[in-house]
Amino acid sequence: MFVRWSRYFLPTRKDAPAEASPRLRLMLRAGLIRRLEPGLYGFLPLGCRALEKIERIVREEMTELGALEIRLPRLRPAARGNGLASKDLHLTDGKGRRFGLGSSHASAAISLIGGDVNSWRDLPLLFCCEGSGYRDTVGSWALEFPLYEAFGFFADQGSREETHRYMLRAYSRVLARCGLGFRTAEVPNEASEDGSSLAVVVFEEKGDEEIAWCTSCGYAASRCLADVGSPGPPPGTEKALELVETPGVRTVEGLVEFLGVSPAQVVKTFLYVGKRGTVGVLVRGDHELEEEKLRRALGDRSLRRVDDPDEAQAIAGAPFGFLGPVGLSVPIWADKAVRDIPAAVVGGNREGYHYVGAKAGRDFRVEGFLDLRRVREGDPCGRCGAPLRIRKGIRVAELLRIGAAGLTFSDRDGRVKPVLAGQYSLELHRLLEAVVEKHHDDFGIVWPVEIAPFHVVIAVLRPDVPEQIRVAERMASALGASGLDVLLDDRDRSPGEKFHDAKLIGAPVMLVVGHRALKRGEIEAERRWDGARASFPAEPTEVLHGVWGLLRAERG
Ligand SMILES: [Zn+2]
Repeated sequence: MFVRWSRYFLPTRKDAPAEASPRLRLMLRAGLIRRLEPGLYGFLPLGCRALEKIERIVREEMTELGALEIRLPRLRPAARGNGLASKDLHLTDGKGRRFGLGSSHASAAISLIGGDVNSWRDLPLLFCCEGSGYRDTVGSWALEFPLYEAFGFFADQGSREETHRYMLRAYSRVLARCGLGFRTAEVPNEASEDGSSLAVVVFEEKGDEEIAWCTSCGYAASRCLADVGSPGPPPGTEKALELVETPGVRTVEGLVEFLGVSPAQVVKTFLYVGKRGTVGVLVRGDHELEEEKLRRALGDRSLRRVDDPDEAQAIAGAPFGFLGPVGLSVPIWADKAVRDIPAAVVGGNREGYHYVGAKAGRDFRVEGFLDLRRVREGDPCGRCGAPLRIRKGIRVAELLRIGAAGLTFSDRDGRVKPVLAGQYSLELHRLLEAVVEKHHDDFGIVWPVEIAPFHVVIAVLRPDVPEQIRVAERMASALGASGLDVLLDDRDRSPGEKFHDAKLIGAPVMLVVGHRALKRGEIEAERRWDGARASFPAEPTEVLHGVWGLLRAERG
């Protein structure tokens, strides 16, 4: 099959809006997508072809796993305990019934099979489902995105873990076929049973996800929850607690200067208000507090930092800059590194004063020492102690252990047990973005062969010359019949524009039908990913052989 560019809709652009990320700009310029609204994108025909090729790969791998395809409505009712999440889009119909559009079809899948799963004989089950995800957040592709999900239902943990492993292997095959490598990392996810999920992340300098990664033991997690090891105690020995005057000194830097201590000997005190009241939170002066870790550790998503000076004054009796744990009347939680400081500088809870020589446990009570600090490049890995690296990446898929909303089954022993579930989400737009990010150069996209929207572009330099069109059509028919997707550029454009556009849209092979080569009885070819050039006799069998040779070569 071949397509004539003159009758196709493939509008390329010289420029794209600066507010889009570089990979989105490239996708806009290459005529894959258009932005309809902030956060809302549509696929043009070329983008559809790319997306369909990726979907085909995903479907093949899901079928290989034995997943059964189902279709689910995008709307999910707010009834039957399917509480709508805050990130869902909410809407109400004419009768006042509330619905949500969410980032997963999991609750619909549970409703779909719920009435028909009763016995251990019905389990395990694995379904896959194509759809759209929705998220009420800001971001480049935030509102609605193409999603391919799978859902597993299991009688026991062992069976669920096994499917998790198979699913991860299936995802790794999908990514390999798209020309991508990946890492798995633990990331926060409220929908999951244990508050986190396993994410499939493609490392990319321009990714929007920050991953802390240990090159030694392979541990990887979202930066906001990565386990970090002990940095060791700062210098110093235990001393008696002493209140000293520190007029106007409100910052760690100021204290370092004024008292001649190191930032690691200073303790910062924050106040947070949550559903169980106010708490004090301590981290070392040279560390940053990671709020996600705090919220997870205290099991309170509503925690917010007190940033109003009057509120702080009312709680601690001192303004910001002088807050401290000694004598503070609220429960105090501290980062683990605070425990090891032999003699700390802390706020005096009195304007113009700090304590020196403070020791956790001796001079102030701490409810618990937790991992609360934000990971930095080079911090020790929480698992093995080797330095952690911070890498950026694109999260393309997630594997979660979820509850099955009260679904139960009767086991072999006759007892009624809860069904365990797994949710596996592949965000196709992110996969596409990762491919474009990984496979592009200064001229445009460089598609991996298996997902290239078109394998071959035939640039006809003079479409007004009947011989050139005739030759090009013969080649296109032969290539198309051999299973390749061919775009015949018969537009009335200059050769320069045709070469430019062919590179921009990134077909693996470009054939050039022009006067000079035709006079020699030849067609010229250029391979996109390495610029390798070749000439073939202008005969369908020769060109077919030559093009397949170019496509099959190992890509460096
Ligand atoms: Zn490690």
